[in-house]
Amino acid sequence: MVELIKAKGCNVYLVVVDGKKYVVDTGLPGNERRIAEAVKECEGIILTHSHFDHMGSARALSKILKSKVYAHPKEFEYLKGIKKHEYKGLIGSFARFYESIKKPKYLEEVESVEELKDLEIIHTPGHTEGSISILVGDSLICGDLVRCKVFSDNPTLSSKNFNWNDEEYRRSLRKVLKFEFEKLYPGHGRVIRREEFEDLLKKVF
Ligand SMILES: [Zn+2]
Ligand SMILES: [Zn+2]
Repeated sequence: MVELIKAKGCNVYLVVVDGKKYVVDTGLPGNERRIAEAVKECEGIILTHSHFDHMGSARALSKILKSKVYAHPKEFEYLKGIKKHEYKGLIGSFARFYESIKKPKYLEEVESVEELKDLEIIHTPGHTEGSISILVGDSLICGDLVRCKVFSDNPTLSSKNFNWNDEEYRRSLRKVLKFEFEKLYPGHGRVIRREEFEDLLKKVF
């Protein structure tokens, strides 16, 4: 089961598998209380990637819920503030500025998603080095692999200004097609049907 929790910055999802609860992504800093209230307790907090709008509340939330934070090992250095993402263009400069004001709370400890045995984790690099998608039944939580436009809410690809490697990104778009999901749960915007995703890819490839 995948459920949306209202939060600022990005979509935060509650995933329940075999009675175990997981939180996927945490939004900007300041979301920890409302997520904790909605979830009460959880097995772990999983980050689809280390961008500021997804990891912003992870540290505070892990303290409240007393749970571990999981991510792909290729995201660890970014989550700990050792490495910085490169954003491009004007929108990239704006994002960097915004991030510097909001002061990310970097993580002290992160566990590898490989330890999560009851979830199917798919490495989908490109948007960032260690971006992941999570398959839950017929639903694929895909982080920023695809998103919806702010005003029209139509599905679209993530901006090149924020992507780490465009070639890898395209490869990951094709990679997820091999999995049998019906619904995509993106990091931003509404749920996307598989047909919509396939239509989107036809325009790219
Ligand atoms: Zn992102
Ligand atoms: Zn995002």
